[in-house]
Amino acid sequence: MRAVTVTPGVANTLRLIEDQPEPAPEEGSILVEALAVGICGTDHEIISGEYGEAPPGADRLVIGHESLGRVLEDPTGTLQPGDLVAGVVRHPDPVPCSNCAVGEWDMCRNGQFTEHGIKGLAGFARDRWRLQPRFAVKLDPTLSRVGVLLEPTSVVAKAWDHIERIGHRAEWQPQTVLVTGAGPIGLLAALLATQRGLAVHVLDRATEGPKPELVAALGATYHAVPVNDLPFEPDVVVECTGAPTVVLDVMCKAGPTGIVCLAGVSSGGRSIDFDAGALNRALVLENNVVFGSVNANRRHWDLAVEALTRADQGWLGSLLTRRVPVEAYTEAYTAGPDDIKVVLEFAS
Ligand SMILES: [Zn+2]
Repeated sequence: MRAVTVTPGVANTLRLIEDQPEPAPEEGSILVEALAVGICGTDHEIISGEYGEAPPGADRLVIGHESLGRVLEDPTGTLQPGDLVAGVVRHPDPVPCSNCAVGEWDMCRNGQFTEHGIKGLAGFARDRWRLQPRFAVKLDPTLSRVGVLLEPTSVVAKAWDHIERIGHRAEWQPQTVLVTGAGPIGLLAALLATQRGLAVHVLDRATEGPKPELVAALGATYHAVPVNDLPFEPDVVVECTGAPTVVLDVMCKAGPTGIVCLAGVSSGGRSIDFDAGALNRALVLENNVVFGSVNANRRHWDLAVEALTRADQGWLGSLLTRRVPVEAYTEAYTAGPDDIKVVLEFAS
């Protein structure tokens, strides 16, 4: 069968191979036919050789961690043939650490977790894959066009879950949310904010392209100005750019008892002049919290299904700005100027 693979750690080794073996029964009892794979920045990092790890004993890694498929067979009866399904990306470490031991593999403490298409487990960019029932997330049939957004939605569902847990350390009635970065993660974070009835502001550099309209269609306000020029102090910030100046600016901009969730990953290696003492004063004197958030556990995947099912399907579809058949995979993995989310399509 077909699979999109790389040699991890070696740049420009992206290849569609035709002789990928069928998924081994040890991968799980549920056999799935691939429908679509979403592409994100992590895939581009893996392709450029910065990241990625093949399964033990293998030279190549099948990439793809944002999955959507259709169940072919499930002898356990957990799912039925024809069900739409996505695979949980991260599996707990084998030790396991105290968090993985209770299913919170998103909070793994020893780094020995594995991840489909990223770290030690074959990805979903292949014609067929297998899942264990506990890593198989069923989607409503209405999500057949947009269900490939489930993985990025699980990431923001986790971010919101933790924002709310932190918020409830004291009386908490947030009203204003700032999302920085209007890529897929930022737009989905804004979607989940609107579903909570909050006043949502999205800040991005783009003044053209689809982003301003996508934000407006959510009923949110779009800003293409520096953070310091915003005319309000947000109660919650979801930072999705990873841009160092934006990260520092939002930490100072958050209002009293503000919560700043850092969901973007910086590249590092660049220093900027910054008044750390002023930041300390802002955080201490306003009881503010800054925290990082990555990945998602099973509970967050289930919350993501609810969020996508509630959302406007047309709006979700407009995030998928390019759908590319697997035969043209090199186009899919070449970033375009107006891309929000690019999807590689397998069977239809
Ligand atoms: Zn762990």
